[in-house]
Amino acid sequence: MKKYTFRGGIHPPEHKELTEHKPIVKLDAPKMVILPLRQHIGATLEPLVKVGEHVYMGQKIADSDQFVSAPVHSSVSGKVMKIEEYFHPSGMKAPAIFIENDGKDELDPSVKPIGDYRKLSPPDIAKAARQAGLVGMGGAGFPTHIKLMPPKDKKVEYLIINGAECEPYLTSDHRVMLEEGEEVLYGLKVMMHNFGVDKAYLAIEENKMDAAEHMQKLLNGDNSIEVCVLKTKYPQGSEKHLIKAVSGREVPSGKLPIDAGAVVNNIDTCTALARVMKTGMPLIRRIVTVSGLGVKKPCNFEVRIGTDFQTLFDAAGGLKEDVKKVIMGGPMMGIAQYDLRTPVVKGTSGLLALLENEVIWEKEMPCTRCAKCVDGCPMGLMPLYLSAYSKKEDYDMMIKYHITDCIECGSCSYVCPSRKNPLQRIRIGKQLTMQRLREQKK
Ligand code: SF4
Ligand code: SF4
Repeated sequence: MKKYTFRGGIHPPEHKELTEHKPIVKLDAPKMVILPLRQHIGATLEPLVKVGEHVYMGQKIADSDQFVSAPVHSSVSGKVMKIEEYFHPSGMKAPAIFIENDGKDELDPSVKPIGDYRKLSPPDIAKAARQAGLVGMGGAGFPTHIKLMPPKDKKVEYLIINGAECEPYLTSDHRVMLEEGEEVLYGLKVMMHNFGVDKAYLAIEENKMDAAEHMQKLLNGDNSIEVCVLKTKYPQGSEKHLIKAVSGREVPSGKLPIDAGAVVNNIDTCTALARVMKTGMPLIRRIVTVSGLGVKKPCNFEVRIGTDFQTLFDAAGGLKEDVKKVIMGGPMMGIAQYDLRTPVVKGTSGLLALLENEVIWEKEMPCTRCAKCVDGCPMGLMPLYLSAYSKKEDYDMMIKYHITDCIECGSCSYVCPSRKNPLQRIRIGKQLTMQRLREQKK
C-alpha cells in the first residue's frame, strides 16, 4: 500500500495502547441528561420544550432557524426538569436542558427509517441529516447538512473519510472501524450518492493497520472506495493535511476544502448518517475514549449525549488521586476541564485524565530562535514571529505572516525547548485579526 503524508508535523508519544484493544462498552443512560443548546459551530439553539413537559427519546428539543445550526434531540425519555446555564466543555457556561430519565427509552414517533438512500435526492439527504442533528464528530462540530450541500459552482472530486485519529490517546474512531465497519461504509456510500462521485477515500494512519485491513476486507473487492494508509504524524487528521496527503492538492489560504474540490467527513459521522437512513435515529449517542494514566481502567464507551463526565470516569474505574489535568478531546487540541459535572456533547471524542508526568509544567524561558517551531509547523508558518506580533497587537504583520492560516494544532508549543507556548498568543492574535478583517468587510 502506498503511504501518504505531508511536510512538517511532529511525533508526540501516542499512548494509544491504553485503549486501542478495548472493545466499546455501552453505558446505561444516567438518571439525568444535560443537553447544552450549544453543541456545534453556529447559532445557539432555542428550546422547543418547557419545564415539566414529557419528552421521548429522539424527540427534537431545541432548534434554530439560522442556516449554520443543527437541532438537539433528547437522548432519553423522561421529564424536562429545568432549562438553565450550566457547565459547558468550552469552559464557559451555556444554557442547557435537564431531562430526568424515566428509564423507559420510549421512542419519539417521528423516529422512522428514511429508507433507501439511492432513491433520495441530495437535498433530501441533507434535510434528513439536518433533522437528525448531525454534526462533524471529530470535535469541530460543523453541521453535516451544510457539507452535504456544496455550492452549485463547486465540484466534489475528493470525498475523504478521516480515519487518521492523529491525536494521542484517542482510539474511538479506531474501535468504530473495527466494530462498526459496515456502518462506516454504508454512511460513506450515502455520501457518495449525495455528491454523485464514483470514488471515495478512507484515510487511516498506519498505527491502525488492523482497522485498515479490516475495512479493506469489508470492501470485498469494491474498488470505488480506496483505503489510503497515512504515515503516523501529527496533525495528519487536520482537513487541510488530509487533503494534501490524499489528493496532493492544497486548500488555498483563507478558503475551504471545497475550493480544492474536496470534502472531508469523520468516521463516526458516517455511522451516524447510516443510522439516520436505516432507523431515523437522530444523533443522541457517541463513542468516547476515556484514557490517560490518571484513569484506573481506560476504556472506550458508547454513551448518551448529555451524560456527565464523572459518570464516564466512574465507569472507567475512577480517577487516581494525583490527577493533574482533565481534558476533553486529545492532549494537543483538547480543552482543559474544570468541573466533572460537565456533560458529553456531540463533539466529545475523548476524556483524558493526566498525571504530572504527562503534563508539561516547566517554566517558560526566553526564545533562543532555534526555529524548531518553524520546522514543526505543518502550515509553514513562523510561530515565533506570530506570537511576538500578537503580543504587540501588530495586525499588519500578523496578516502579512498569515496568522489566519494557523490551524491551532499546538505543534509549535509542543516542540519549543523554551516552553514558550507560542500557540497561546497566536490563538488570541488570530481571533482579533479575524474580527478586524470581518469588520473591515462590513
Ligand atoms: S521553538 Fe521556542 S525557542 Fe525555538 S524559536 Fe520557536 S519559540 Fe523560540
Ligand atoms: S503556528 Fe499554528 S499551525 Fe503552526 S504549529 Fe503553531 S498552532 Fe500549529
